[in-house]
Amino acid sequence: MEPAGKKKPIVIIDAERCKGCELCIVYCARKVLGKTKNINKAGYNPAVVADPDKCTACGFCYLMCPDNAIEIK
Ligand code: SF4
Ligand code: SF4
Repeated sequence: MEPAGKKKPIVIIDAERCKGCELCIVYCARKVLGKTKNINKAGYNPAVVADPDKCTACGFCYLMCPDNAIEIK
């Protein structure tokens, strides 16, 4: 059970903004992010949140993304 007042972080990747550069995947020390075989409208394989329970909301993926495709709540 979560401590009172502490919510689980949620990482959201905008698949249409993502260019599949994998920087976020490489820099996530918790291995939360991965790649999908889906192809977005621009023809890239976007990153996905593969294991959300491991996320610590460190913000590295958000900082690394050159395309502003990541949001952390
Ligand atoms: S916030 Fe940190 S732990 Fe969570 S997905 Fe991004 S880099 Fe990984
Ligand atoms: S860093 Fe941004 S553009 Fe690159 S794979 Fe991750 S979400 Fe996509």
